[in-house]
Amino acid sequence: MPDNTTISIGKRKKLSIRAVISSLIASAVCAAIIGVIMVNRINIENLTMQQFILEKSLKINEIISKMLYKTHILATIIAQNKGKIENFERLAATIIDDPAILNILVAPGGVVSEVYPLRGNETVIGLDFFTESEGNKEAILAKEKGELVFGGPFTLIQGEQGLVGRLPVFQDMPDGGRQFWGLVSITLKYPQILNGVGLDTLTNLGFIYKLWRINPDDNKKQIIATNGGDKTERGRYLEKHVAIFNADWYFRVSPGREWYEYHEMWLMILTGLFVSFMIASIIQKNVDLKIAGSELEKMARTDVLTGIYNRRYFLELASWQIEKMKRMQKNYFVIIFDLDHFKIVNDTYGHIAGDKVLQSVASSVKKCIRLYDLFARYGGEEFIMLVIDSDNTGIDIANLAERYRRSIADTHIELEDVRISVTASFGISNVAPDNDLDKAIQRADEALYRAKQKGRNRFVLYKSGG
Ligand code: GH3
Ligand code: MG
Ligand code: MG
Repeated sequence: MPDNTTISIGKRKKLSIRAVISSLIASAVCAAIIGVIMVNRINIENLTMQQFILEKSLKINEIISKMLYKTHILATIIAQNKGKIENFERLAATIIDDPAILNILVAPGGVVSEVYPLRGNETVIGLDFFTESEGNKEAILAKEKGELVFGGPFTLIQGEQGLVGRLPVFQDMPDGGRQFWGLVSITLKYPQILNGVGLDTLTNLGFIYKLWRINPDDNKKQIIATNGGDKTERGRYLEKHVAIFNADWYFRVSPGREWYEYHEMWLMILTGLFVSFMIASIIQKNVDLKIAGSELEKMARTDVLTGIYNRRYFLELASWQIEKMKRMQKNYFVIIFDLDHFKIVNDTYGHIAGDKVLQSVASSVKKCIRLYDLFARYGGEEFIMLVIDSDNTGIDIANLAERYRRSIADTHIELEDVRISVTASFGISNVAPDNDLDKAIQRADEALYRAKQKGRNRFVLYKSGG
C-alpha cells in the first residue's frame, strides 16, 4: 500500500487552478504595493527636485548679482568725482572682499586705465574694450543699453576662465544731458564663483544637474556646471530659467535614476515573486495532499483486481446500513456467491485468465445491482451482497438471486482462442429477525454450502435446521 501511495502522488503533476489563481492574486497585490511605494517615492523625489531647483537657481542669481553690484559703488564714486579716479587701489581693495573676484577695473572711454589687483592683471592695462578681446560684445552692449551687462564664462585675456560684468558710467552734463564716460568692470573667477551655491548637495543626494546657457558667440549650448552631463537629457527632469541681468542661464535637475534603476525596487519585486511562489506551492501541496488522501481512501475501499468494494469496506458500510435500517424496520438479505469449480479454470487456462474471469463476473453482476444494494469481493472467488428493501415493498429475493445467477452463467469470457464460461452457487439469508450481520453472513455461507452440495449453479435460501 505505501508503495502505491508514493507512485500516485508522484504521478500528479497538474497545477491546480487554485494555486495559480492564488499566486496571481498574490503577485497582483505585491505589484500594487510596489507600485504605490514607487509612485510615492517618485513624488517625493519630484518635490525634492522642485525645492532644490528653486533654492539653487536663486542662490546662483544671488551670488553673481551680489558680485556684479560691486561695480555700482565704484561707478557712483566716479560719477560723483566728475570722472576723476582718486585712490583707486585703496577703494578697489575695500570692494574686493571675495576670493572669487579676479579683478575690478576702470576703463575711461573704454580703455582700461586701472586694475586691481595689478599683479597678474598687467596685460589688461591699455586694453580697448571697443576694439579688442572677447569682452567687447558686453562692453558695446553696456554702452548701448546704458546698463550693466553680464557675460561669460569665456577665456580671459589673462588666460583664465571668467565671468564679467561691464557697467557703463555716464556723466551729467551742464546742459542736463548725459555723456558716456567709460566702463567699470568686474571679473569673476569661473568656476570658483559657483562654489558658494552648494551644488554638491545635489550630487550627494544622487541628483544630476546641468547649468547651461546659449553662447552668443556661436549660438551653441554651453555647459557652465554639471555633475553628469547628458544624463539630464533622458527621462524625468525639471528645468528653470535663471535670468542674471541680460544673461539667460538654465538650470536642469534630474533624478539620475529611472524607476527601473532602483535596486530596492527589484528587491521588492523578487520578494513579491518569492511570496507568490511560496503561496502557490503551499496551496499546490495542500491540493496534492488532498488528492493523494482521497486516492488513498479510494484504495482502502476497493478491491484492486475487480474495482468493486473490498471485504473490509463492505463490512463497515453494511454495519452502518444495518444500524440505520434497524430504526426504520427495513428488511434486508445477505447473498454470498462462490464461483463453481474455479480451481479448474485456473488450472486449465492459467491464473491470468482466472483473474480476467473474476473481473468479468464482478462487472456483469455490478450491472444488475440495484441502486441501494452493496456488492463486494469477499475474498478469492467469493462475492457478497447486502440487498436492502429500501422502500419496504417486499423483495422477491429468489427472483433477484436468479437474475444474478443468470448474469454470471451468461457471461462468456473471450480469450485469444478460447471462450470461458463459469457458473456460481448462491447462499441467501434474511437477516431481519435479529439484525446481526455476522450471523447473517454465517447463515448465507451455510446456504451456499448447501447449494454446492445440491449440484452448484443454483441458489439456496437459508432455513434454520437445514
Ligand atoms: P467449488 O465449486 O467447490 O467452489 O470449487 P472451486 O474450485 O471453486 O473451489 P476451491 O476453493 O477449491 O478453489 C478456489 C480457487 O480460486 C482456488 C484459487 O486458486 C482460486 N482463486 C482465489 N482467488 C483467486 C484470484 O484472485 N485469482 C485467480 N486467478 N484465482 C483465484
Ligand atoms: Mg471458494
Ligand atoms: Mg469456488
